[in-house]
Amino acid sequence: MHAIGVDIGGTKIAAGVVDEDGTILAQVRRDTAPDDTAGIDAAVADACKELAASYDVGAVGLAAAGFVSPDRRSVLFAPNIAWREYPLADNVAALLDMDVDIVVENDANAAGWAEFAFGAGKDATDMLMLTVGTGLGGAIVIDRTLVRGKWGAAAEIGHMRVVPGGHYCGCGHEGCWEQYASGSALVRDGQAAAVAYPDRARRLLELAGGSPAALRGPQITQAAEEGDELALSLIEGLGRWIGEGSASVAALLDPELIVVGGGVAAAGDILLRPARAAFAEQLSALGHRPEARIAVAQHGNEAGIIGAADLARI
Ligand SMILES: [Zn+2]
Repeated sequence: MHAIGVDIGGTKIAAGVVDEDGTILAQVRRDTAPDDTAGIDAAVADACKELAASYDVGAVGLAAAGFVSPDRRSVLFAPNIAWREYPLADNVAALLDMDVDIVVENDANAAGWAEFAFGAGKDATDMLMLTVGTGLGGAIVIDRTLVRGKWGAAAEIGHMRVVPGGHYCGCGHEGCWEQYASGSALVRDGQAAAVAYPDRARRLLELAGGSPAALRGPQITQAAEEGDELALSLIEGLGRWIGEGSASVAALLDPELIVVGGGVAAAGDILLRPARAAFAEQLSALGHRPEARIAVAQHGNEAGIIGAADLARI
């Protein structure tokens, strides 16, 4: 059965028809505004209608960046979109007028499921996915089952406290893991370093057009790939935070595989090498237990579409 997956972000949605092997057969996009929830409903329905005109579709999965209700119908809260106890699936169903099942999934869970079912984790049974983007999203698969928790809010690993009294977080607390292991953290530290050490940051400042505040993550990755020392140390710092936090998660879950996705995953081994080293240093009973592999995600930006579509079929 073909299913549609829709990845709903703050400013755009991407929707695709996905077959049972996880291949996207067709894809469309729509621009949206984060405070216009009715506009998002309409854009989602419109994108689904366009795709369903050319393909026989049996289910629709909506990947949403927020806390999803356990019945997979509503978004309870979203930090970057104006959803509060919002009946997303029912609203889209009312506009769609198609006889299909519609479910809502957390976007990081959807991305993790795509990697588990069709990507880096397809031979695994127990997997942790880290989506390292603006924030740090997580997905947990145990014994081939996605862990949603009792109330649908499992795997919000980005908000585990790793530094008491640390950086403020958008969730209202301090010292959350995503304040250290995210693209935003990389950019914050890169901008601070460019202000503090303009000589060492010469290449970074060049890429940012001369202004520390204009520095972005892909520029840091590019400079690191060129061998720039400061950029390499910034990526290494990020990798170490990913690895250290993962060791704490491993103490809890004992995964066989940790998949790193999101924008910074483009840095590949430059990021994973320090992550693996920090993971091994922090892992308890090191040398007396099998160590989880840390691998890069395979589906990139399309993981949300693929995972949401596949979860809608289950
Ligand atoms: Zn937080």
